[in-house]
Parts: sequence; C-alpha cells; structure tokens
Amino acid sequence: MGDAARALIGSPRTRPALLFALALALYLAPFAVGTEYRLFIATQMAAYVLVAIGLNLLNGYGGQVSLGHGALVAIGAYTVALAMVDHQWSFWPATLLAMVAAAAVGAVMALPAFRLSTWYFALITLGFAEVVGGLLTEWRELTHGFAGVVGIPKPGVLGHTLTSFDLYWLALSLNILALLGMANLLRSRFGRALVAVRDNPVAATAAGVALVRIKMMAFVVSAAMAGLAGALFAVQKTVVTPDDFTADFSIFFLLMVVLGGAGRLWGPVVGAVVFFLVPELLTALQSWRMLIYGVALLLLMLYAPHGLVGAIETGWKRLRTRLGLSNIPPAPSTAIARETVHPIAGAALSVRDVEKRFGGVSALAGVSLDVAAGTTHAIVGPNGSGKTTLLNMISGFYPIDGGAILIDGRSVVGMAPHRIARSGVGRTFQTPRMLPQLSVLDNALLGAFPAERQGAAAAALSLPRARREQMASLGDALRYLDFVGLADRAMEPAGELPHGQQRLAEIARALVGRPRLLLLDEPAAGLSLAELDRLGELIAAIGALGTTVVIVEHHLELVANICRSVTVLERGAVLASGTPAEVFSHEEVIAAYMGSHSSVGQAAS
Ligand code: ADP
Ligand code: MG
Repeated sequence: MGDAARALIGSPRTRPALLFALALALYLAPFAVGTEYRLFIATQMAAYVLVAIGLNLLNGYGGQVSLGHGALVAIGAYTVALAMVDHQWSFWPATLLAMVAAAAVGAVMALPAFRLSTWYFALITLGFAEVVGGLLTEWRELTHGFAGVVGIPKPGVLGHTLTSFDLYWLALSLNILALLGMANLLRSRFGRALVAVRDNPVAATAAGVALVRIKMMAFVVSAAMAGLAGALFAVQKTVVTPDDFTADFSIFFLLMVVLGGAGRLWGPVVGAVVFFLVPELLTALQSWRMLIYGVALLLLMLYAPHGLVGAIETGWKRLRTRLGLSNIPPAPSTAIARETVHPIAGAALSVRDVEKRFGGVSALAGVSLDVAAGTTHAIVGPNGSGKTTLLNMISGFYPIDGGAILIDGRSVVGMAPHRIARSGVGRTFQTPRMLPQLSVLDNALLGAFPAERQGAAAAALSLPRARREQMASLGDALRYLDFVGLADRAMEPAGELPHGQQRLAEIARALVGRPRLLLLDEPAAGLSLAELDRLGELIAAIGALGTTVVIVEHHLELVANICRSVTVLERGAVLASGTPAEVFSHEEVIAAYMGSHSSVGQAAS
C-alpha cells in the first residue's frame, strides 16, 4: 500500500474532504444520469432515509423498538396533502404543521414506553400503526377514505414551481442537514444521555439524567423527522392513499436501520442504499425483495450484529491494525490547566431512624447517622448488613419506609433519584456502572449532564454557546480523569478497562458533577495492595477538595487512615459509631468482624 493511501486511511482529516466530495457528486449526479424515473426513486429514497435517520436515534441510540414509524410518515404525508389540496396552504407551512402533528402524535405514542418493556412497547406501536391505518380509510370526511388525496401540487419557491430535479436537491439537502444535525446531537450531552439510558439506566440516573425526558426527546425528534419525510413523500408522489402506509411500510424502516447498522450514524443511509435502492434499480431482483431482506437479516444477526456499518467498521479496524495505524487516538488537546481542580463546598448529611423492608426482610431497622459537612465518613459492617441499602436510601434509588434524610437540612425523602443527583449527590456502585461502548472520556463527560444547559436544538446546530459549553465540560472531564489517574486511558472504550480502573472512572464521572456529597460503595473491592494505597490517597484528596464523602469499606486500615468518623452496621442496625479509634476498639465490633456472633452474645451477657 502506497504512502498516499496510507495517509488517506490514517488521517481523520481526510474524512470531511471525502464526505464533501460525495455530497458534491450527489448534487451533480442528476446532470449526468438524471432521468425522471431515477430522480423519482432517489427522492423517494431520500425521504425514506430521513425516516430511518430519525428512527435510528430512537432505536439504535435510544434502544426503543418502534414498529409504528410508518404511521408517523402517514400523518406527515396526509397533513401536507390535506392542507395543500383541501385548504390551499403552501408547502412550507404545511410541512411545518406536518412535523408538529407527527411530533405530537409521537409524544403520545411514547407514553406507554415509560411503563412497558421494550417488546410489549414494540407491539403497542404496531397496534398504533394499525389504528392510524384504519383511520385513514374510515374517517372519510377528513381523509377521503380509500381514494386518498389526489392532485397534491408541487412546492413552489417565489413563484417558481419545483421540478423533479429541484425536489431531489431539496431531499438531498434535507438528508445532509439531518445527518449533520444528528452527528452534532449525538456528540452532545443528549447523545451520551441517550446511550446511557439505553445501556445503563441506573448510571444515567445517578448522573442526574431524567430518563423520561430523554426518551421523550428521542421520540419527538424522531417523529418530527418522520413527519418531514411524509411531507416530501406526499409532494413527490402527488397522491397519497391508505395503501401507501400498510404495516410492512413501518417494518421496512426498522429493517433499514437494523440491517444498515443500528446505533451507527451511517447505518440508515447504508441500509437504504443496499436494501431499497439496489433492489429497486435491479428490476430483476424486485420479486425477490422479501427473501433478500430475510436472508440478509439472518446473516447479519449471525455475523454482524451491528449491521453493515458495524461490519465495515470491524473490517476497517483490522485493516488499520495491519497497516500499523491502530493506535488509540490521544485525548483531545488540553489547553486546560489540569492542576486546577476546584474546591467544592461539602454538604452535611443527617440520617434519622431510616427503615427499609424488602418483603419480610428488614434491611434497615432504624438507622441514624450524622456526617459533618466536608468530612469523610465510613460505613462498615458484614455482608448483608444494609450498607448498600443505606446508600440507596440517601440517593433515592429505593423508596424509604420510615425516617428522615436531610442534606444540608433539606429533606430528600420522596425526591426522584435523578433530582437528588442534580442537587449535588454523586455516587458510585458496588459493581461499576459504566457505559462499556463509550470511551472513558465520554463516561466521565456524562457526569457534566446536569450542569450543562444547551438544548437539543442548540446542540444539533452546534451553536457557538453549545460548543463553548462542550469544551468546558471536556476540560472538566479530562481534569478529573487526570485527578483519578486515568488521563492516558481517556479514549479507550470503558468496557475494556479492568474492574479497578472502571471504579476510578466511575469516581471521575461522579466528580465531574461536582458533588457536595459523594457516596462510594466499596471502591477498594478487588484492588491490589498497591492500588489500595493509591485509592486511599485519592479519597483523601477528594476529601481535601471539600466534598463530604460517605464510603462503604471493608478495609479497616484504609478507613482508619482517611475517615473522621465511622458507623458500624449489623443486620440493619447501628452497632457502634464514633471515631475510627473508638469504634475499632469496641468489643462487639471486633467480635462482629471475627464473624463470631455467639461471642457477641457472650460479651453482652
Ligand atoms: P450490604 O451492602 O451491607 O452487603 P445490602 O444493603 O446489599 O447489604 O443488603 C441488606 C439486606 O437487604 C440483605 O438481606 C439483602 O438481601 C436485602 N436486599 C438488598 N437489596 C434488596 C432488594 N433490591 N430486594 C430484596 N432484598 C434486598
Ligand atoms: Mg453492599
């Protein structure tokens, strides 16, 4: 392989140039090969790609299966058709209305998704598509029934009626804008939050992400894009009938996304080209279309679970490895003063008589403890004594059965966990909750979600203020990764880190959220002795920032070194509390730690 080719493959800078060349070729193509029929097919495909790009946001990134997107396209198409034919609207406001209508219906369609599992929800969306299909034929006064709406005029701009060439260019431009917007959106706080909601809702919640809002955003954006595609579809075909929107129309979009590569930016485009355009152009293949889909689905499930784009990515990686270009990219340049990790004002924690039962098990039977602002407190106790449950109560992950929890004097009882997180409570989990496919850096960046203010539109348009905010978050994330000692692994997929380092990454993510209270659940589990020492230093350093730390820990020496106070739990009750020196000389504590409960009984008697 020559140097030029190597440079092409090796440098990410060539990508924009290649994409620009591709776009230019697509804009110019009609002059060379543009027949009416081809333009018709290409424009139709562009409309389909729009739907698929939107569906990919929901399905690929959001993990929600919709078998009803065809109905949203129908709503868009009929809105434009009826507004233009029956009410003489012009195309542009009609399109806006189509997007709003589809988005509104999409929002309603989303509601069951918050209560049902993925597959039940998928069935509901299928039923929804059936209902819309039924309405198209039955609600004759509005929809003209089986006959559909005919004679939809072509859009006009300043008195000029768009030709099929113009329509193709319009559709192509909309696709390019959609891809750019989607790329921006996915790179932003919304992309990370969406993937977090898909891969690890618990981690997302702990980072302050409201699952419902993020899912709703994905539905609304996705539905609006389907509505826009419907508008194009209507003016391109000039006729819409209920027959255009049968159930397989909806399934077709999901196939394009899944076959092309769900959760890959280019997946829907590749899916549409390979599975719509190619069979359409090779007329000999047309009658085989369903068979081709079936076989392709089977093969891809077996050999390329991330679709065609996933398979291409894997091949690309192999090629780069063979050429010796496979180094992990360096972390983004840091014009960032890494040494300046800002102080944080810690919050006081007060837990009063907290109770928690799981069925018949009393996990916490009236636990109280107080942690002064800015100090480090340990919770120790045997397995099953209720330590994790207590952290879950403080962070709101489980509802409380009795008692009170105050953070800086304010009750957090009954608050949703993501709200508690947003109010300044960071936490880690006994088993690290990482987003394994995202880089360590993106995992840390998720922690910035609550502090970031950019809306979805600003993110998709990559407005200057959105970019500034992203740079600031990036600086924070790198700084805290450096703080926990992971800066050099920032660009690696988090799932590839060993367990101990995933814990550190999780701590960095919590720190990026500037927690006033940080809850750490057994951060030392499974660490080597050397790592244990470093962890001790790290937690001491976190304490020195000013944050209040509550740490569940088995290593008593570590506890003695870094904690001002300790609470010992046993079977859901406080066995002892005080300074480490007081507590660890306590006879019952010693006995409990020896695991000999009979000797506790003897000591007490
Ligand atoms: P620790 O963290 O101290 O090891 P836990 O707080 O995890 O202990 O558990 C305390 C008790 O509560 C145990 O008996 C455990 O089985 C029970 N428990 C914890 N979480 C749940 C749950 N989600 N459902 C049912 N029982 C639970
Ligand atoms: Mg535990």
